[in-house]
Amino acid sequence: MAATGQKKAKNGIVVDNEIVVDEGEVEAVQAMAGAIVGQIDSATVESAVSTEQAIPEAGKSKATRVRRSAPDEHQMRDAEPKSALEDKNSAVTEDSEAAIAAERAAVQTEAPAAKVNQDAEQQAGDTEPSKTQRIITLAAAASSCVRCDLAQGRTHVVFGDGNPEAPLMIIGEGPGQNEDATGRPFVGRAGVLLDACLKENGISRKHIYITNVVRCRPKLVEAGRVTNRPPTPEEVKACSYWLEETIAVIDPLVILCLGAPSSNAIIHKGFKMTQERGQWFESRFARYAMASWHPAYILRLQGEAYDAARASLVSDIAAARQKVIEAKKEVKLSLF
Ligand code: URA
Repeated sequence: MAATGQKKAKNGIVVDNEIVVDEGEVEAVQAMAGAIVGQIDSATVESAVSTEQAIPEAGKSKATRVRRSAPDEHQMRDAEPKSALEDKNSAVTEDSEAAIAAERAAVQTEAPAAKVNQDAEQQAGDTEPSKTQRIITLAAAASSCVRCDLAQGRTHVVFGDGNPEAPLMIIGEGPGQNEDATGRPFVGRAGVLLDACLKENGISRKHIYITNVVRCRPKLVEAGRVTNRPPTPEEVKACSYWLEETIAVIDPLVILCLGAPSSNAIIHKGFKMTQERGQWFESRFARYAMASWHPAYILRLQGEAYDAARASLVSDIAAARQKVIEAKKEVKLSLF
């Protein structure tokens, strides 16, 4: 999908008024990811986290403003009787005036208690950690994971990247050499291809949250040569704890699986990529899930086969983007 409908909002990005993200959130996560992999010093993280913590604060002051500008319960109850009293045609008796006065007195007595409850609710809301904070905590816990043998050969745990508030989550297979070296997912050749296909749909990492089925590099050492390999079922199972915890925090509307291990984990076991790619499935992890070709697989193709597979990935991303828009509407409708 072309990026023609894309608008830049003051504090974030709006794509067709549907995928809204806050750059501050993304930067906080990226800075924290950098710190977890030892790339960014703790001062940068502290400042990023405090920037991130400022976001709920900013939201709160806005909400407070809205609340203050709306009439509170006391004012509303006050306003209604007054207009009735001022209406010369209304049948207001002395009895009803007395009742109104009594009600006003009661409201004034109740008001302080109601205010205390409201303040307590506000404070409870303030202390609830944001998705960004929860992802930072989870990533910090995963950085010392020893759930499987991949821990022994890793340089970094590659937790995830992008915007924790994003409605679209992309799940790949596992880190390769570049990801292991940097601690960030999809930064090698496959990542470059994926970013290009996302860009053709007006999407950047700020609009998605991206992770893998396993968070440490599965590697094969043969005749002194180290290469990437798919994760074993045991490694996928061991890492499913982190994947499921991550999905629980992100709570995406739509998941796009790249490659078979992700499709098997998220959509169903025995997923047949050639037959089932590009189809929508219900999933316990998101409202909708779909699988597409893994960009590393596309890179192994040549000529027309490469072009066709690349075009499929671009159109599957377009379908995922459209599905987010539909799912958001469905969620809004189901509130009523
Ligand atoms: N391939 C993946 O599946 N994930 C990465 O992060 C990089 C390459």
